[in-house]
Amino acid sequence: MTDVIIAGGGPTGVMLASELRLHGVDALVLEKETEPTRVVRALGLHARSIEVMDQRGLLERFLALGKKYPVISFAGIPKPPPDRLDTAHPYVLGIPQPTIDRLLTEHAVEVGVEIRRGCELVGLSQDEEGATVELADGTELRSRYLVGCDGGRSTVRKLLGVEFPGEPTRIETLLGEMEVTEDPETVAAVVAEVRKTQLRFGLGLLGDGVYRVIVPAEGVTEDRAVPPTLEEFKQQLRAFAGTDFGVHSPRWRSRFGDATRLAERYRTGRVLLAGDAAHIHPPVGGQGLNLGVQDAFNLGWKLAAEVNGWAPDGLLDSYQTERHPVAADVLDNTRAMSTLMSVEPGPQSVRRLMSELMDFEEVNRHLIEKTTAIGVRYDFGEGHELLGRRLRDLGLKQGRLYELMHAGHGLLLDQIGRLSVAGWADRVDHVVDGSEELDVPAALLRPDGHVAWVGEDQQELVRELPKWFGAPVS
Ligand SMILES: Cc1cc2nc3c(=O)[nH]c(=O)nc-3n(C[C@H](O)[C@H](O)[C@H](O)COP(=O)(O)OP(=O)(O)OC[C@H]3O[C@@H](n4cnc5c(N)ncnc54)[C@H](O)[C@@H]3O)c2cc1C
Repeated sequence: MTDVIIAGGGPTGVMLASELRLHGVDALVLEKETEPTRVVRALGLHARSIEVMDQRGLLERFLALGKKYPVISFAGIPKPPPDRLDTAHPYVLGIPQPTIDRLLTEHAVEVGVEIRRGCELVGLSQDEEGATVELADGTELRSRYLVGCDGGRSTVRKLLGVEFPGEPTRIETLLGEMEVTEDPETVAAVVAEVRKTQLRFGLGLLGDGVYRVIVPAEGVTEDRAVPPTLEEFKQQLRAFAGTDFGVHSPRWRSRFGDATRLAERYRTGRVLLAGDAAHIHPPVGGQGLNLGVQDAFNLGWKLAAEVNGWAPDGLLDSYQTERHPVAADVLDNTRAMSTLMSVEPGPQSVRRLMSELMDFEEVNRHLIEKTTAIGVRYDFGEGHELLGRRLRDLGLKQGRLYELMHAGHGLLLDQIGRLSVAGWADRVDHVVDGSEELDVPAALLRPDGHVAWVGEDQQELVRELPKWFGAPVS
């Protein structure tokens, strides 16, 4: 029996599979499409996802194919980025989703993940030992755990009967890449005029006469999987701009809605949900892919611990306890941003007020820490301000902290050299080193880089280690 089957080979699914492999867990990814999509949804990675890539040794390959931009201002309200963002990566790494997906997939294959394309999950059942999945061709496969990373219309979520409460799509937007006969200056001038009253409109030059075109759809379709026709693009461009710019030769065409929904639970026995399968929201602020990759980063080591038999009670359930509120917060900030981007007088006056408030450095930083996810703090109870937060990368005498985390182990950063992780040495690396940037004697980091404990007392540490890393090996 396979350890873990993952339905869906998008960024969440392949990231999760790689995390599982780091811990020696077999991961089989089932992807219904036979070929990767050309549709460019996400346009880049925010600071926390860049850190995640760094923590797994993938930073260089992402930097090589991406372009650094200033962090995105909240709701597009023009403000300079705040000073002193608590990260070594205070930028957006612009990189189109098909490239992100390809890099994550290549990494997954390198670490031994099996990805089967053209395999659509259509049925599932579970018992005390595992889950059985049924594929569209009638094949049955069995695994100890199943994770639905199968996107916003998740079959796994529906088969589980997990409720997906929230708001339905009320507005739909057409998105595509196509060539334009109009000259670039005229395109830019017309777009600027239309955007005074419609922010869901744009033609961005990608190069070689190809543009990324965004325009509101006429209504809301039943099935958004059916791409719009070129004629539909032309009709909507004419409706909003009075010209269709001579669009032709589309590379791809798609449509997206603004539904905002959050799964009521992330775990049903041996079946879990992650990424868009668990939460959907409009793309404002560019957060969905980032959120899914970070779900995978949270879940991977916990599920691996369960499979490998050392997970303490409640560790796997902490995936939902920690990640559900983070997604709820993202949904809320996208609702807020969507409202602030309306050109109606009410939202516009709130936008002006917001703009004034963002002149306060603390407010601006708070908002950016939300959208970049560097402000995420899991609730580990009362304690030091670092507790529950991820620790930023630090320069140490023996290298950078994140370079020491590639294996996906826990890590005790011991600045006093008096502590020990004997009994947990197979799960927790002990690094005796120091950084002027870290103002605590020692910090215990989970494999996802979140701080589980700070202090200097060995007895306290020995009480904390089993909560995350299970019983000691004698
Ligand atoms: C216009 C637009 C712009 C966006 N921009 C950004 C952005 O800038 N930044 C950002 O972070 N996010 C952005 N997003 C969101 C981002 O694209 C998604 O959040 C992200 O793709 C979710 O990843 P996922 O792996 O969870 O799901 P998906 O990428 O949807 O992958 C799910 C996979 O599961 C497969 N699948 C589905 N059903 C089955 C089945 N039954 N069996 C097997 N396989 C199945 C699908 O084929 C697919 O490959 C944007 C989205 C849109 C629409």
